[in-house]
Amino acid sequence: MSFEKILGHSRNIGRLKALLACGRVPPALLFSGAEGTGKFLVAKEFAKALNCLHKPAEDPAAEENLFASASPPPIPSTLYPLPSDDACDKCVSCLQIDSGAHPDVRIIDADFQGFLLDEAARKQKSLKIDTVREFTRYVYQKNMFSPWKVFIINDAHTLNLNAQNAMLKILEEPPGNAVFVLVAAKKNTLLPTIISRTYALNFKALGAADVEELLERSGLPLDEASALSELSGGSVKNAGDIKRVRDRLASVAVSGPARIFKLVSSLPKEPYMAREEAKIMLNMLILSARKKWLAEGRGQNAGRFAALIKKLLGLRKLLNSNVTHGLVLETALLESEKLSVSFQ
Ligand SMILES: [Zn+2]
Repeated sequence: MSFEKILGHSRNIGRLKALLACGRVPPALLFSGAEGTGKFLVAKEFAKALNCLHKPAEDPAAEENLFASASPPPIPSTLYPLPSDDACDKCVSCLQIDSGAHPDVRIIDADFQGFLLDEAARKQKSLKIDTVREFTRYVYQKNMFSPWKVFIINDAHTLNLNAQNAMLKILEEPPGNAVFVLVAAKKNTLLPTIISRTYALNFKALGAADVEELLERSGLPLDEASALSELSGGSVKNAGDIKRVRDRLASVAVSGPARIFKLVSSLPKEPYMAREEAKIMLNMLILSARKKWLAEGRGQNAGRFAALIKKLLGLRKLLNSNVTHGLVLETALLESEKLSVSFQ
């Protein structure tokens, strides 16, 4: 996949291509915006374009030689060669980045930290200072294969304070051939001193049509892709979460007087996962209530739907506190049932 194949974000991609085309690559970039909108994908394509071996201006015959040798190509004599403004998707560098095997392009995320700590990735709620220290070793090492070293810090909003301070030290004096891309769902957890050192791009939610197309590309039938895209709020991640929960609920017997009890007890056993799942179920109820409220227009029940949405939003907020998630979900289901609002 190259920039051209990414749906949406044409303005941000245009800016990145302009930076690449003139060779003015900022040492640090910040991609922020809701989860599931494609920020990470764009960061990966940016890394690929930076290190792509295919330069359109060069001899076309050179393209055939890209696979000819497994040994690394010579590092160009100029320290910061002009990068390509898009990835070719074919050269050794592009293929290695796609497969996660490029020695100069590192992804720092929950998987990376989980690997370091020998723990499950889903248990990594924040990125810690030891993780930053670990990848700092690579920051100051000599490049192994390509002219640019790229570090994509995914979910950078989860960097804790100590980790951010360690990160700040690197950003204060970054090596000239290193590029850091911080990918964050929200900016407000990042130190202003970090934000001020980045070239910041804001990623807006995708249009429903884009989400639908992406879901179709992932193999979902058209009707399901269409229904999920409407509920997704412009996020492919949301659509995936909703699909997962819907599939799980389909296997739960959700009728009869014990319906609510069954739904609550169907939550995953692990508290962290149960809380996340309860949040998704609350979101589904909010979306469903909103749909009914809009359909009601100025009808006599409009006020009741509006009040329900307000209640559900308040309950969703409670899921971030220490209140038992099962109790919150049960209350939400009881309130929704009064107005026949369900997960549809
Ligand atoms: Zn390439």
